[in-house]
Amino acid sequence: MTVVTRFAPSPTGTLHVGNVRTALHNWLWARKHGGRFLLRIDDTDLERSKEEYVDAIRADLAWLGFDVDGEERQSARFAQYEREFAKLKAVGRVYACYETPEELDIRRKILLSRGLPPVYERKPADAPVPEGVAPHWRFRLDHDAPIAWADMVRGNQHFDPKTMSDPVVRRADGSWLYLLPSVIDDIDMAITHVVRGEDHVSNTATQIQMFEALGAAPPAFAHEALLVGTEGKLSKRLGSLGMEALRDAGIEPVALAAMLARLGTSDPVEPVTSLKPLIESIDFSRFGRAPARFDEAELALLNQKILHHTDHDMVAGRLPAAITAARWHAIRPNLMTVAEAAEWVAVFDGPFAPPPADEADRAVIAAAAAAAPAIDWDADPWHALTGAVKAATGMKGRALFLPLRRALTGRDHGPEMAELLPLIDKSAAIARLSA
Ligand code: GLU
Repeated sequence: MTVVTRFAPSPTGTLHVGNVRTALHNWLWARKHGGRFLLRIDDTDLERSKEEYVDAIRADLAWLGFDVDGEERQSARFAQYEREFAKLKAVGRVYACYETPEELDIRRKILLSRGLPPVYERKPADAPVPEGVAPHWRFRLDHDAPIAWADMVRGNQHFDPKTMSDPVVRRADGSWLYLLPSVIDDIDMAITHVVRGEDHVSNTATQIQMFEALGAAPPAFAHEALLVGTEGKLSKRLGSLGMEALRDAGIEPVALAAMLARLGTSDPVEPVTSLKPLIESIDFSRFGRAPARFDEAELALLNQKILHHTDHDMVAGRLPAAITAARWHAIRPNLMTVAEAAEWVAVFDGPFAPPPADEADRAVIAAAAAAAPAIDWDADPWHALTGAVKAATGMKGRALFLPLRRALTGRDHGPEMAELLPLIDKSAAIARLSA
């Protein structure tokens, strides 16, 4: 069996961390099993779906590194839906309904006030059909077939169809609701695993009967616990936190993937530099049922950790040419984002204005300026320089190191001077000390 998964966003907006997490899990699962990962654009809502969002979704998946083995569009498949709908209608598994939303609402309230579950009540077969009203359509659940499946995350699930309303699958204007087209697609595209949020669990119960009604075996299901913010629910900001905002904040796609692969699982979040270890380790049985907490501050920290062991060749295309491999190596422990590397070009190659120094500091700097020309820059110049200044001035510790760091880099903090100094041209260093 070839594993086939799909990520099925509606192109009514851009991707946010919640649906990227779903995309990631589907992608990882397909890759782990040498299977196929499909992008299915759920654009049955022609009015709200926009081509610009389809483009943005593709671009975000590419940025994340989730390569797609095929793309499908629901709007190109209306003929298939029509055909399967006709089959279900012919055998009475979908049926016409004429209630108005107001009528349904009143029935609901009556049932609730009697302490009864607000389940849709089917009309008798001989109920009068109102004239001139276009029907909407419901799928007839089989009340004699209890629904059960072994969810890869949630374990054994059971639903009694008698306690569920027959779901509406098509509106009076002929447009489709999500439920039935999704099942028809999953059958036609030979989807083996449906991975999605637990907000779809009761949909799954009805969809399992739709698979069976269409003569297909249902796929395996994994319903993941929802993603929440640090405040306990998905905040508005996080709920809409898009890839563009994360890119602008300097978050590496692999950092986001590393976080979303493990949040809410019993495996720790690890600062990986590629998706490969995430592919190997995905395992739905290690996903918890409690909501997964997403913390932007944690993501920023993880991003930083990942940069600390990211090789130059992985980021070279995004670095100024002056940031050579050796320079990248020296500065990466000090970076929060790759973009910050550009700020270090002036430290290496100038120009920068050295901060003002007091008298004691000036003596240290002058001694360094005097000692520097004789120092072999290829052999640990920092220790040679500080040794010579210490001997000349008697200064040590912070009083020795800080004025030199300031004069040589213009900053109070930064990478180890022993690593940095050999990467600054000797004559430039002498000029800085003599300024
Ligand atoms: N378009 C649906 C959604 O975004 C797809 C759900 C599914 O994966 O079946 O909720």
